[in-house]
Amino acid sequence: MSLIVQKFGGSSVSDAEGIKRVARRIIDTKATGHDVVAVVSAMGDTTDDLLDLAGQLTTEPPAREMDMLLSAGERISMALLAMTIDGLGAKAVSFTGSQAGMITDAVHGKARVIDVSPQRVRQAVDRGYVAIVAGFQGMSPDSNDVTTMGRGGSDTTAVALAAALNADVCEIYTDVDGVYTADPRIVASAQKIDKISSEEMLELAASGAKILHLRCVEYARRFGVPLHVRSSFSTNEGTWVLPSPDDKIKIQEGEPLEQPIISGVAHDRSEAKVTVVGVPDVPGKAAEIFGVIAGAHSNIDMIVQNVSTSGKDKTDISFTLPIVEGKDALDALRDAQERVGFEGIEYDDQVGKLSLIGAGMRSNPGVSYKFFHALHEAGVNVDMISTSEIRISVITHADKLDDAVRAVHNAFGLDTDVEATVYGGTGR
Ligand code: ADP
Ligand code: ASP
Ligand code: MG
Repeated sequence: MSLIVQKFGGSSVSDAEGIKRVARRIIDTKATGHDVVAVVSAMGDTTDDLLDLAGQLTTEPPAREMDMLLSAGERISMALLAMTIDGLGAKAVSFTGSQAGMITDAVHGKARVIDVSPQRVRQAVDRGYVAIVAGFQGMSPDSNDVTTMGRGGSDTTAVALAAALNADVCEIYTDVDGVYTADPRIVASAQKIDKISSEEMLELAASGAKILHLRCVEYARRFGVPLHVRSSFSTNEGTWVLPSPDDKIKIQEGEPLEQPIISGVAHDRSEAKVTVVGVPDVPGKAAEIFGVIAGAHSNIDMIVQNVSTSGKDKTDISFTLPIVEGKDALDALRDAQERVGFEGIEYDDQVGKLSLIGAGMRSNPGVSYKFFHALHEAGVNVDMISTSEIRISVITHADKLDDAVRAVHNAFGLDTDVEATVYGGTGR
């Protein structure tokens, strides 16, 4: 008998009908002889709604209370799903993250898993129950408090449980049929990818393709958990993310032997651009600035240094970071302005990031030319550029991002005639 971990995202459990559909799916899986552990997200846009509500009450909610609030969303879905399965005549029991043994560090809002001890989940499964676990949340043994793992974190809960329980597969059920060559909400002609290497999936997730939480992909790769991303609204085969770099993609008859050069285009609206203007052009200043940012616990993405618009012997240093970390970073920079000796700070959250990803980029010349040519033809101005071996990313104005994604997707021949199905969700 095999064990399957099934994770259902918010749009899959957005209302009573959705919860019933998911309950029946779990029961069907059990009926085919598998044990099932289900991980659930909060219903629909509950997490965003709770964030909005908190924002109406205070501008600076304590991080601990924010986690108490947001973790409630997943508790609602886990209990509703367990009672629905029970009502349909099967056995189910729900667990909070803490009851399921999700042990994290104490960093509220972006806690990391440090251990998983799912004894209660294992016992429930051994007694014939479907175990339902609240995603996105854990418990810190240092503070004894509830933590959350960052937006989209239920994917990581599922993979961490799958690894700890030695599950045969971790299925991520969502509102599209799998991982596509671009977000099907923006590019209707995007193609579903049947199999993708974890290396490329990591770059896609890190570049903002929110179909999978980045840390879920890292975790799956590290512990060799096979991931199957698919729709909870259809029975179509989804996308397999191959867990380790050594896992060779099995070539089926008729499939081309060479990997495609490009696997997809990702976009991200969650970053802002900060420019530190008029930095003295002497050794050590960049280190001082990034020391300040590190002290504010911000994650820097792209960095560019230019000759300053403000005059000779000065540079401007621009970087991007998550919008949610913008305020703390700006406060820390303002505090350090006099000491570091720069002239000013500019902040722009109307930016978008576009990334082109493909392992074949390494060995195929001309990719950059085609990429920038497509952007030029679409009238998109490029503000910043960064690259890795298998990725090119640019920052553009937010208004131009969708056009840029479609232009690049088309230029690399990724469009197909069949329109991708988006089954649910609001894309929020
Ligand atoms: P869930 O609530 O199931 O976790 P998410 O909203 O987090 O779902 O992720 C699914 C969404 O990810 C899709 O509806 C789609 O709009 C978006 N998405 C972004 N990039 C991609 C991509 N490359 N392939 C498929 N979906 C993508
Ligand atoms: N409910 C959380 C969120 O909206 C976690 C998740 O859905 O994975 O980010
Ligand atoms: Mg998600």
